[in-house]
Amino acid sequence: MKHIFQISAGRLVLPLIAALLFSSQLRSQGGTPITKERIEQVLTDAYNKYKDIKEGKNADYIKELAQVDPNIFGIAVVTADGQVFTKGDVTSMVSIQSVSKVFTMAKVIEEQGWQAVMDKIGVDATGMRFNSIVAVEMQKGKEINPLVNPGAIASTSLISGADSAAKWKNIVQIQSDFAGRQLSLNVPVYISEAGDNLRNQAIAHLLYAYGRMYFDPVQSTDIYTKQCALNVNAKDLATMAATLANGGVNPITKKKVVSQTTVMYTLPVMATAGLYDNSGIWLYKTGLPAKSGVGGGLLAVFPGKFGIAVVSPPLDEAGNSVKAQYVIAYVIDQLKLDPYWIEPKK
Ligand code: GLN
Repeated sequence: MKHIFQISAGRLVLPLIAALLFSSQLRSQGGTPITKERIEQVLTDAYNKYKDIKEGKNADYIKELAQVDPNIFGIAVVTADGQVFTKGDVTSMVSIQSVSKVFTMAKVIEEQGWQAVMDKIGVDATGMRFNSIVAVEMQKGKEINPLVNPGAIASTSLISGADSAAKWKNIVQIQSDFAGRQLSLNVPVYISEAGDNLRNQAIAHLLYAYGRMYFDPVQSTDIYTKQCALNVNAKDLATMAATLANGGVNPITKKKVVSQTTVMYTLPVMATAGLYDNSGIWLYKTGLPAKSGVGGGLLAVFPGKFGIAVVSPPLDEAGNSVKAQYVIAYVIDQLKLDPYWIEPKK
């Protein structure tokens, strides 16, 4: 049997060198390598094509968000091997809002396992608005998911930590590890939402009544509200997405943030519910797991390849950034990257 494994050095080394050279390079459908110049060109084209559109409007149910400059427009791509491409305004900060839900959920999966999230919260699309009370009531607190407000507040309640301060510390840490830098709180946004948060408090209490809130509902809602008020820019969001794309290792800091198993259970929830009641349309158009927030951020993950994010505050009816959806769909289309494109065997 031994001879089967005795492959000549030459036959082994050449394919190995080729594999090393090209393994990190992005390839489009059909296998054509995508050059850096091509990525830069497509980001520039996307920026120019969509920068002047006037559709959508800033969220205003959180008063402070109505004050954010609607013209902030930044695009960032971070590849799974840590290359960064940006276009437009990638320094202006917006509050992360619902995008943060992904990373708190990932932390709960990491700490308690995928089964716990499925059993204690749920991983089904509600098909309803992100802050729907009906969605909770209809299933008596079950069959929701961590990417809509009820499930996100439940995730916060499940994060390890004996008290509110310890839970908050763990949440800031996980969000920051994904972003690759210490994130800080946008205090005016936090105060603005915390002072006008009866709906989220009601959701938390309803879940509590159904035995599906795992820490004090008032404090859990408060931590959740703070988590949503962390400041990020497009590059932060793209790095967070790239950490998922890279199996849980931040491709810039190289820190192992979560396990591959956690990523494996995080991405499907994003595919199912990342854009709330428009998640199906989004997946149909792009094929990518993604997450939006009412601050105007949207990130998407191409597993094993890259993270992409856009920040632009004006939102559509469902609460998803209009420009961000256009840009990401355009980039995926232009680079001919869709995970569901399959080359039939010859
Ligand atoms: N903090 C916001 C809220 O609870 C987040 C919602 C969102 O981004 N969709 O309403």
